[in-house]
Amino acid sequence: MPGSRTFVGTGVFRDQPFTVDVSNLLQRPGARRRVLLSGALVLELDQVDDSGPINADLEVQETGGSVLVRGEVTSYLRMRCNRCLGEVPTDLSISLVQLYVTEPDEDVPRIGSDGSIDLSDAIHDELCLSVPLVPLCSGACRGLCPTCGTDLNVEPCEGHTAERGSPFAALEGWLETSPRGAKTSR
Ligand SMILES: [Zn+2]
Ligand SMILES: [Zn+2]
Repeated sequence: MPGSRTFVGTGVFRDQPFTVDVSNLLQRPGARRRVLLSGALVLELDQVDDSGPINADLEVQETGGSVLVRGEVTSYLRMRCNRCLGEVPTDLSISLVQLYVTEPDEDVPRIGSDGSIDLSDAIHDELCLSVPLVPLCSGACRGLCPTCGTDLNVEPCEGHTAERGSPFAALEGWLETSPRGAKTSR
């Protein structure tokens, strides 16, 4: 495969949007370079309907035979509200810090023999960690009536809401707060 690759920027390949050639960097101790990447990755999470392009603004730096990657990764997700099934557009913004080494190491990904690093796994894993487990259109979403399906944000339904307003409803809302990195854009 190497040799058939087309560069679209300094050390960035067309067909592998998250692979970066760091061979030049490795020959210059302490050298650093800014890398802008853009591409798509599938986030295989039940709560994610669709994800937009992933953009990364990173710095790669030679750190004594290894390469340190640091920067920001942003993307956009469409999820379904866990209570009312409404759309929940969500902007994701995460900080990425990942080391790549030349020697085999159990815990740290390796720089390829062709002098390139593939950031796909690191970006994918960080993004997945920042996706809310239980997406909500709003912490105050009333959800659908489990009996008749009425969207209780739009209108009340008659007779099926007796158990709503229990003390556990407040606790539920408190437990379903989003983890780091995510904020709904609605
Ligand atoms: Zn909702
Ligand atoms: Zn009802």
